[in-house]
Amino acid sequence: MLILKSARAVDWNPPRVQEHADIVIEKDTILAVGPNAALSYYDRADHVIDCGGKIVHPGLVCSHHHYYSGLSRGVLAEIGPTPDFISILKQLWWRLDRSLTDEDIYWSSMICSIDALKCGTTAVIDHHASPGCIPGSLDHIRRGFEETGLRGMTCYEVTDRNNGAEEAQMGIEENIRFARTIDRERKEGTWSGLCEAAVGAHAPFTVTDEALEGIADAIAQTGRGIHIHVAEDRYDVSHSHHYYGKDLIRRLDDAGVINEKALLVHGVHLSEAEIELINERDAFLIHNARSNMNNGIGYNGHLPGVKHAVLGTDGIGANMFEEFKIAFFKHKDASGSLWPDDFTRMLSGGNRILERYFNRPFGVIEPGYAADLVISDYLSPTPLEAENIAGHMAFGMGAQDVRTVIVNGKIVMEDRSFSLDVEQVYRKAAEAAKRLWKYMDTLSAR
Ligand SMILES: [Zn+2]
Repeated sequence: MLILKSARAVDWNPPRVQEHADIVIEKDTILAVGPNAALSYYDRADHVIDCGGKIVHPGLVCSHHHYYSGLSRGVLAEIGPTPDFISILKQLWWRLDRSLTDEDIYWSSMICSIDALKCGTTAVIDHHASPGCIPGSLDHIRRGFEETGLRGMTCYEVTDRNNGAEEAQMGIEENIRFARTIDRERKEGTWSGLCEAAVGAHAPFTVTDEALEGIADAIAQTGRGIHIHVAEDRYDVSHSHHYYGKDLIRRLDDAGVINEKALLVHGVHLSEAEIELINERDAFLIHNARSNMNNGIGYNGHLPGVKHAVLGTDGIGANMFEEFKIAFFKHKDASGSLWPDDFTRMLSGGNRILERYFNRPFGVIEPGYAADLVISDYLSPTPLEAENIAGHMAFGMGAQDVRTVIVNGKIVMEDRSFSLDVEQVYRKAAEAAKRLWKYMDTLSAR
């Protein structure tokens, strides 16, 4: 049993501040919350942290990440001209993912997971691609989650773009294999409770109807949802009309792949009818404001009309305080009508994804919820109340305030320190990155 004594418990959604609250954690779950709630539990406690009035808030969720890009920071390889979105994929990302080895994926996962925890992100939803080593690749991502103690989901991005139907089939099989491994462990009682699976696909423009049929079958077999980029660039939209004669969300829905677990990423260039269809299916739309800015693909003006809009980074780290701020300020810059509390709702919305995959409640400091929590050093220079938490998020709180992180009831970072040798991990990752960049130079863009 773990006790957090005398905390200022802050929830994002619904917004709430509980003063002088004890938080009692049994195994992976919050057992009791409130003033003096721990009194009758001290004799059973293995560890007590006196928060001394510090803020404790639910851990943050990054709803779309690419761990395979972990070794790309500052990449030094010959990158040709990238005047448009497709050439960015061909020159950079598709050369990088084709160069990845099993070992690279593992080190990527380790450094991305550590980076997430340092920022108070307690769950990451990953979207993986490594065409040179598809079978077993999701296990390497999972090792990073499990060894650092981060909660995560992953999937393989099915595509035909390199080796046609054979490549797509390998991706489908990897998704099914991984989901079945989790199912088996859940059934046998050996599951750590940290890692779940989705069924990945790259984007409609790199997935044929035949592959889409296989993906629909994988979703039916595993009971998961699809995780796919949609309408990130206008090209995806035009491609769907050119080759299939319909809107891309209609095409996905006709294939039966959009359910209440579907994670549809970007959606910058969707039509009103497609947004309606996504809402009707109760699916998620994941907004990645910073990545959209980086690729210059335009702004998503649909956010106010999306039922489940949530936030991701699209591989640019997992600092959700930063992502939240950028999403908010970019929206205001685009003369949008939303306010900071709309964005705290989106940020907290990642917990609804976790609930649908892990089958338990997330994201609120209340008995029965998963014990994914952050102890923060944030000192509020002005009154902090339920009504203005989102304002403190937009204009104050940040990852620099994250002191201690608890995931699934375990302390994984305490007073900014990890029990694993972080410097050694970073050294190994940097060595892997050097090899990877060198190999990238041997591949041409295609
Ligand atoms: Zn992405």
